[in-house]
Amino acid sequence: MKKIIAIDGHAATGKSTQAKKIAKYLGYKYIDSGAMYRAVTHYCLINGWINKLINLNSILENLKNIDIQFKTLNNFQITTLNGNDVEGYIRKMDVAKNVSKIAAIPEIRSFLVEKQRQIGLKNNVVMDGRDIGTVVFPETENKFFLTASIEVRAERRHEELKLNNESIDFSTVLENVKSRDLDDTSRLTSPLEPAEDAIIVDTSNYSVNEVFDKLISLIKG
Ligand code: C5P
Repeated sequence: MKKIIAIDGHAATGKSTQAKKIAKYLGYKYIDSGAMYRAVTHYCLINGWINKLINLNSILENLKNIDIQFKTLNNFQITTLNGNDVEGYIRKMDVAKNVSKIAAIPEIRSFLVEKQRQIGLKNNVVMDGRDIGTVVFPETENKFFLTASIEVRAERRHEELKLNNESIDFSTVLENVKSRDLDDTSRLTSPLEPAEDAIIVDTSNYSVNEVFDKLISLIKG
């Protein structure tokens, strides 16, 4: 295994912003594990497998047909699903509303965890998610768990959605962040929780650069 920096935490705590900055600074690969769960959710949505009930059989039968990659386009990292750029779709609200249900399915977690570990065998990586320090790379010595108040997080996600041209009212975003927190912390397989040896960083009252400086000063090795 190469060098791994694991950044976990609740939705919209600034994990991906920090993970990207750290990866750039250290020359490591950045892996957004949430984008992988979002891409699988998008695939299920376009195939009509998420309705009132989830069509688990079809999803599991088709997992082998899902290929998720990260590519660089105009200096931005994008997520591809079976060769197509799905970055715009996976950040939308319909995916956000369903992703935690899909991420609670054990077979989907094993499928994606295996892919994440394979990436870590070949590359020095900064990976952000919910279970990177607890399940994907429990042996890494660099584990951070970011938190922030629910209002600050919903505000940040609201701004992101606006930049993505989605006009959604703040209360809908707040409800979505709350319900994903609940789903992510209460699921049976790999619930969101800090690893015992993770350093917990509250980002509510700090700027992006202040959090970045703190994390860089704490990285070992
Ligand atoms: O990080 P992001 O908010 O994009 O993640 C979307 C969803 O994917 C999370 O709410 C969670 O349900 C799921 N996820 C997960 N494990 C990870 C990363 C994301 O369960 N390692």
